[in-house]
Amino acid sequence: MKKTTIIKLGGAEGVDFSAICQDVTTLLEAGQRLVLVHGGSAEATALGESTGHPPRFVTSPSGFTSRYTDHQTLEVFAMAVNGKINTLLVEQLQQLGVNALGLSGLDGQLLVAKRKSAIRIVENGKRKILRDDYTGKIEQVNTELLTTLLKGGYTPVVAPMAVSHKGEALNVDADRAAATIAASLHADILLLLTAVPGLLRDFPDESSLITHLSRSQLEDAFQIAQGRMKKKVLGAQEALEGGAGKVIIADGRVEKPISNALAGHGTVIA
Ligand code: ADP
Repeated sequence: MKKTTIIKLGGAEGVDFSAICQDVTTLLEAGQRLVLVHGGSAEATALGESTGHPPRFVTSPSGFTSRYTDHQTLEVFAMAVNGKINTLLVEQLQQLGVNALGLSGLDGQLLVAKRKSAIRIVENGKRKILRDDYTGKIEQVNTELLTTLLKGGYTPVVAPMAVSHKGEALNVDADRAAATIAASLHADILLLLTAVPGLLRDFPDESSLITHLSRSQLEDAFQIAQGRMKKKVLGAQEALEGGAGKVIIADGRVEKPISNALAGHGTVIA
């Protein structure tokens, strides 16, 4: 059977999309089935700021940060992430001869999520509830759509949006979207490429890279991961529990980022 790898491309500065796309061609030639999922947080922030709608980042009582997404923020997010990043990634892949197909989780109900219209946050030590949020937790993946595309020879490139049970467009976390897709396809590998070499025991000291983690060590990893790294650890846990083979968090800033990660560089969680 063909190996299936889900690759999530981080949005942080330094992550080299063209090196990743180049490496995608190598894996496809070797017969792998690939699904790409991208973020776009930085791009959405920049577009929001330049159009007079800067984002508001909020922290949940359990310490997870997210973008508060009112409808205008959702529109900005869609323009930046689904509009620009997705299109330009597909363009790069097409130029390399890869028949990439861009879609977001709304298309064909690829990702169905439960809308969290009210979210709990902690601000200046006080708990608050924010309403009119358009974010969601993914509950269903249209696995058949993905397998149909893969069988047809397409390489799906997924933007992190989902459709609610009422048909609303929602912003979802890209790491967890990739994790849910990896679980639904029982992927061999979920690869999270980011702007650090992996999970660092002592962030930002890059020499403190944790090279291997077992599932039972994931609880410790939650303590070590700060900020947005927490979502990657959560994604890793969800992917493994859902049936993915292993998860690798690795550097997206290096030459041949995918081959490098598959050769064992990064944090391997299995
Ligand atoms: P991406 O855009 O690639 O999804 P994020 O910026 O959302 O990446 O998350 C990765 C970031 O998490 C790292 O760049 C780093 O700043 C931060 N981080 C926090 N704690 C850790 C840790 N223990 N190890 C590695 N990175 C960490």
